[in-house]
Amino acid sequence: MRLYTEHDLAAGQEVPLTANQAHYLRNVMRARPGDAVSAFNGRDGEWEARIEALSKGAGTLSPDRQTRKQTSEPGPWLLFAPIKRGPLDFMVQKAVELGASALWPVMTERTNAGRVNMERLAANTIEAAEQCERLTLPDLRAPEKYSTVLDNWPQDRQLLVCVERGAVPAMGSVLQHQAGIAAWAILTGPEGGFSPSELDQLTRLPFVSPVSLGPRILRAETAALAALVCWQCALGDWNRPSPPRTQ
Ligand code: SAM
Repeated sequence: MRLYTEHDLAAGQEVPLTANQAHYLRNVMRARPGDAVSAFNGRDGEWEARIEALSKGAGTLSPDRQTRKQTSEPGPWLLFAPIKRGPLDFMVQKAVELGASALWPVMTERTNAGRVNMERLAANTIEAAEQCERLTLPDLRAPEKYSTVLDNWPQDRQLLVCVERGAVPAMGSVLQHQAGIAAWAILTGPEGGFSPSELDQLTRLPFVSPVSLGPRILRAETAALAALVCWQCALGDWNRPSPPRTQ
């Protein structure tokens, strides 16, 4: 059992549970006071904690000892044109597992998914981070218009834009010999793809690298996850040994 909390984690610190967490521990996991839970908050590393109190809709944890120190998790940002609810849930959960450090819905001309349910995105993000043993949550950004995102882009962050048609270099070749760039982001389009004027705008920006993910047209969620995998293999933590993990 592993939980994200917004509260500080330190020995002897009482950590209140949310009503959902109390429900999950009590009714889903059948946990009882005294049982061990692992907890993290993105600041204080990971802690082994005991359930101090647990009742309907409330409870507290008591952290005993730190089991992992806090480290940064510097994966790429993932920017995506919102897609339908089921594929979006899947994409967000898997992007967290694959190490995205920020998740940012971008409204493009052909985006037709309607309002983005940010509470649902946040819940998916937390659940995936708990499950995959991350020490941080990705930064969840409010939806923003495509042109506003590009107009305000941090110039030291390279943006890999996934483009499915045309003479676009393969992502694998673009990422070779790029160890000098510290900050990265990936952008995928909506089901209808980027419009010609959006693509035209992109190619004139110095911080943009258009990339191809091969000759097959991928669903938007597949493209986002495939791009994260490529990035982790070429430049991320799939390119070096992982520290040993204990059970
Ligand atoms: N409607 C578009 C078409 O038929 O040309 C397909 C859009 S695709 C379903 C959605 C998004 O996934 C694209 O905007 C792009 O960002 C990404 N994508 C899909 N296949 C890709 C590929 N082979 N290479 C790069 N990006 C791809």
